[in-house]
Amino acid sequence: MSLFDKFLPIQKARNNLLKSGVNPFHVTVENILSPTEAIMNGRTTILVGTNNYLGLTFHPDCIKAGQEALAQEGTGTTGSRMANGSFLSHRELEKAIADFYGAPYAIVFSTGYQANLGVLSSLAGPGDTILMDGDSHASIYDGCRLGGAEIIRFKHNDVADLEKRLRRLGDRSHRTLIVVEGIYSMLGDRAPLAEIVEVKKKYGATLVVDEAHSLGVLGQHGRGLAEETGVEQDVDCIVGTFSKSLGSTGGFGISFHPEFEFIRYTSRPYIFTASPCPSVVATTKAAIRIIQDRPELRRRLWTNAHQLYDGLLQSGYSLGAEVGPIIAAMIPTKELALAMWQELLENGIYVNLMIPPATPNGECLLRCSVSAAHTEKQIKKIISAFSKLPDATQNHTHPSHVQPEAIIN
Ligand code: PMP
Repeated sequence: MSLFDKFLPIQKARNNLLKSGVNPFHVTVENILSPTEAIMNGRTTILVGTNNYLGLTFHPDCIKAGQEALAQEGTGTTGSRMANGSFLSHRELEKAIADFYGAPYAIVFSTGYQANLGVLSSLAGPGDTILMDGDSHASIYDGCRLGGAEIIRFKHNDVADLEKRLRRLGDRSHRTLIVVEGIYSMLGDRAPLAEIVEVKKKYGATLVVDEAHSLGVLGQHGRGLAEETGVEQDVDCIVGTFSKSLGSTGGFGISFHPEFEFIRYTSRPYIFTASPCPSVVATTKAAIRIIQDRPELRRRLWTNAHQLYDGLLQSGYSLGAEVGPIIAAMIPTKELALAMWQELLENGIYVNLMIPPATPNGECLLRCSVSAAHTEKQIKKIISAFSKLPDATQNHTHPSHVQPEAIIN
């Protein structure tokens, strides 16, 4: 028995799944052509699984800003901000994010994953409690674990269950952190934030909202679900990522609490890792400007989301309950989902295959993420490819409820 033996069941499961051919978790993008097209398996493929919600990855302003930063500031920072110092551009990016949210405090992290690790582990430690939505992303699970607080999961989007658990905590509710997401990444549904804020206030708890998938997507100015719901002042901290609507990498936290600044001194994922490199900082800053200056991108995204959602619904698919840029078709079995995913790829459409344990309720999903950069013609092609799949009109039944281990994307 060696440490490596534990990988055997994984190898077996993978081999069983892959009898049919391509490894869905190992695809290669041979040549990326635009936010919505790439060469995969030698074929021009429409990308509809990118989280590139506003299609900014090839925006000329972002590319120019990145190139200038490369030339002026070099390729990397080669260390953490604590040890090596902050570049002026890190500070400027933090100011740009703070100004965008109208919040006084913003901290930038090297990834969205680290933003959750850094903020959650700093806010709730030993002796504190965390109430997290059961369908939370893996980075939320890991951030909660890193801090050492007691972790309790409440039923996904179930405010009555959240309240019941807060009530049971008694006085401890004042030292309780509630963590939810703006838009959930698997089925595209939203947190009932107005009710969650009410409950958090009633029990004196603290609330963090991860707006990874809602930044640039929801709210009049694209700030996310808290803006859309009108509760920004009641959310204690918003975390988010640069890797979706902003088309780069990195993450952030913002807050109205002055104490938030001290997370820089307590957060291991801030202190013990290299700071974001200058070109990434520059493209992110340019993208934040574009979100503010180009609200029509958001409108285009929503037009595309409605077109795809309606098209897939009419083709007979069971979809997540809410229309939005994440549109997931629920498929009854892993094997069928894999076969359908592969057929889509062979027809030049790349979507995400999502299977348990990374999905809620044991769902097998063909998950699309829509972009403002998709053309009407591309959306039509995606719908047509889905509707031609042999199992498209089968009446899909839902598997029984299984708690996910953590959501991966
Ligand atoms: N939070 C959520 C809800 C996510 O879906 C993700 C990634 N998909 C992250 C955090 C982590 O962000 P990143 O990939 O930029 O590290």
